[in-house]
Amino acid sequence: MSRKVLSEMGIYQELGLQDVIVATGNFTELGGSLMPAEVTEAMREAARSFVSIPALHERAGQVIADVTGAEAGYVTSGAAAGLVLATAACMTGSNPAAIHKLPDTDGLKNTIVIHKAHSNHYNRMFRLAGAKVKEVGYGAHRTLPWQLESALDERTAAVVYVVAQFLVTQTALPLPEVLRIARAKGVPVIVDAANELPPVENLRKFSEMGADLVVFSGGKDLQGPQPTGFICGRADLIAACALNGAPNHGIGRPMKVGKEEIVGLVAALKRYVRLDHQARIASWEQKVALVVDGLADIERLQVSRVFPDYTGRPVPRAWLTWDEGSAGLSKQEVLDALANGSPIIRVLEEYAGKGLLIDPTTLLAGQEGIIAERLRSIFSGRGGARQPVEPGE
Ligand SMILES: *Cc1c(COP(=O)(O)O)cnc(C)c1O
Repeated sequence: MSRKVLSEMGIYQELGLQDVIVATGNFTELGGSLMPAEVTEAMREAARSFVSIPALHERAGQVIADVTGAEAGYVTSGAAAGLVLATAACMTGSNPAAIHKLPDTDGLKNTIVIHKAHSNHYNRMFRLAGAKVKEVGYGAHRTLPWQLESALDERTAAVVYVVAQFLVTQTALPLPEVLRIARAKGVPVIVDAANELPPVENLRKFSEMGADLVVFSGGKDLQGPQPTGFICGRADLIAACALNGAPNHGIGRPMKVGKEEIVGLVAALKRYVRLDHQARIASWEQKVALVVDGLADIERLQVSRVFPDYTGRPVPRAWLTWDEGSAGLSKQEVLDALANGSPIIRVLEEYAGKGLLIDPTTLLAGQEGIIAERLRSIFSGRGGARQPVEPGE
């Protein structure tokens, strides 16, 4: 009996955790992404033998260079660690004394310049490497070229340019202009493109535009191991990233990736560039259509398809809005009803605006129907939860 329950319920239920339907896209908080068999098989095989980690890093870096078109690449423990190492590399280069000195940056170029409109919680990664952060621009209003130009001086280590969905006020200078201004002053540009896949073309786009280092997450749409990411870019700066990272004893030593993760990320990258991306989008469209059609007759709710997402990624979503007063339901009440039912359902809060978004990219087959059914019962006043599961049944 208990064996049956375990095999039906799985490893998380065995630990007393509930199933979660993730309609948010890839979030670390919700487990990142699910690794396909190609990735888990590669990791399983990697776990069976010892290997030289520097040599493995080198080979993985070549694969990253191949798929991104950049000069070189380096596997990191997530894009966040990539930001730390990219920052460190721009401060130290390959100078061993400087690498030894971090996070003390006295006497080094130690300032990261970032648009105020790009500042976000990952700014802490720059400071973790020892850098100071200097913001430019009027934030939500706008940014003028002279503001960036005048911020770049002899202490500037790099400009960080963030491309992210959660930055809804697009008041930063366009990337080509930032690259032109920075290049004129000999300052490298780091692009945080952690979540900018799909489209697959973005793997090459920022390097082709001339970014010196580009940081991606391995545990989002790439579906590599959750604690991976990578940096691609200029060979000298990538070498400096590696010197600052594990197995070397720089500031990145506690951010190591194991042989299994390195191999898993390589497998995920090779798979990703071969995927039928049109077919993936078509399957997302089907799920979105099912939610939109399934909820179309609920009078209190407006539901439609939105496309593309905030940064132009080819991801369709179902967009839900309603008048909180006349529906008698606040956004928080709907989120709570979704999250407190069984299974837990997590959807995306619209970054600008009052609505909710259903992101199909992280849905498993059939989950869109469960979401539509739950929303239908919430909006028809029948409460959020299905019948609770009897313990032991
Ligand atoms: C997800 C994300 C990160 C962090 O990526 P990890 O791989 O989880 O470390 C950094 N920057 C942006 C813009 C992101 O969306």
